[in-house]
Amino acid sequence: MAFEGLADRLQSTIQKIRGKGKINEADVKEMMREVRLALLEADVNFKVVKEFVKKVSERAVGQEVMKSLTPGQQVIKVVKEELTELMGGEQSKIAVANRPPTVIMMVGLQGAGKTTTTGKLANLLRKKYNRNPMLVAADIYRPAAIKQLETLGKQLSMPVFSLGDQVSPVEIAKQAIAKAKEDHNDYVLIDTAGRLHVDEALMDELKQIKELSSPDEIFLVVDAMTGQDAVNVAQSFNEQLGLTGVVLTKLDGDTRGGAALSIRSVTQTPIKFVGLGEKLDALEAFHPERMASRILGMGDVLSLIEKAQANVDEEKAKELEQKMRTASFTLDDFLEQLGQVKTMGPLDELLKMMPGANKMKGLNNLKIDDKQITHVEAIIQSMTKDEKIHPETINANRRKRIAKGSGTSVPEVNRLLKQFEEMKKMMKQMTGTQQKGKKKGGFK
Ligand code: GDP
Repeated sequence: MAFEGLADRLQSTIQKIRGKGKINEADVKEMMREVRLALLEADVNFKVVKEFVKKVSERAVGQEVMKSLTPGQQVIKVVKEELTELMGGEQSKIAVANRPPTVIMMVGLQGAGKTTTTGKLANLLRKKYNRNPMLVAADIYRPAAIKQLETLGKQLSMPVFSLGDQVSPVEIAKQAIAKAKEDHNDYVLIDTAGRLHVDEALMDELKQIKELSSPDEIFLVVDAMTGQDAVNVAQSFNEQLGLTGVVLTKLDGDTRGGAALSIRSVTQTPIKFVGLGEKLDALEAFHPERMASRILGMGDVLSLIEKAQANVDEEKAKELEQKMRTASFTLDDFLEQLGQVKTMGPLDELLKMMPGANKMKGLNNLKIDDKQITHVEAIIQSMTKDEKIHPETINANRRKRIAKGSGTSVPEVNRLLKQFEEMKKMMKQMTGTQQKGKKKGGFK
């Protein structure tokens, strides 16, 4: 996860000041020294750090903090607000053209994740915004790139416009837009060529595509793991092309987060999306405020709720609630639940979005690997239909067989059965209280 070191350091600095009834300038100075170090260690651009510390210090020794009843809390609020501002303030939206199609040019250096991100973005546009995108293969110098985009298109069942590698990218873009109009595709995502370095020939070509296709968005895809290099790349692309947004990829592997914190400030271009993995659904809208909240250990409940909503089927949730009420919840239902949680992403990542999670010692080292869930699944799958409904009938002999059948151990089987039994007991108690409450006229 990104920002690990930064989050740790900022949180321990904040801890010192949180409950203080009074703070003076020396306290603020001391805190700012730590904040400055934390940001520099996270590979945040030097100028950005200087500016940030200056802003926070001014506000922290100003009226709004010193005169407040809870100055410690107030300083934390200032840090959070400035951190949010640093990353772009309010979340920026994706453009919609007055007359479709909306054209998005995807640019970036080779290996940054441009082609993958083009597929991910198209997937997000369809899933979240109900759009009908077309992908355009305009990287003619790397034949593999055309193939790669076509494969992504197949996986997503989405049209990919390609004219091979003998037609100029400008011509490809032109024809693609005309075709999208004809076919009623409301978004056109142009995957342009990448190079190893920023060079003139590349920029000239991109400028030509820009001129001809009048894109509504020009998104630069950069690799977060390259830190300050990503910031420099963003700066030169922005100078030459005028970017409307940045997509920061591989944030899943970037533990420092320097690029995420510097890009907006250095280039004045907002980060619009972040890539968090190789799979096609691993792209998220970037929310500066939520990210600031996560860095400061205040949790990111909103993202957690959104994830749950996107992954949990409403009908199924209702059905489940009914089963819990009538205490007819079986191990099969439990299995299904596990499946749903799994689709939300790695469990340890989910846990980290909980408020206060960063303060729980050990959570950072905790790897709830999917293997554990897989074991539980295997155990349940090795039971008979009857056993899943009446697990209390499973005797010692059967437990041994189930352990063997699922490639686990008897203690693991015992643990699961015990946990399930307790869960059911709890459900019974809960439904009991609810029914009692109902008889008295229910709760308000
Ligand atoms: P391009 O040359 O810029 O088009 O880069 P590709 O789209 O071919 O991606 C290069 C590599 O980065 C591939 O192996 C992708 O799977 C990987 N990649 C892209 N985005 C992400 C991300 O957000 N996280 C991770 N871990 N890998 C990514």
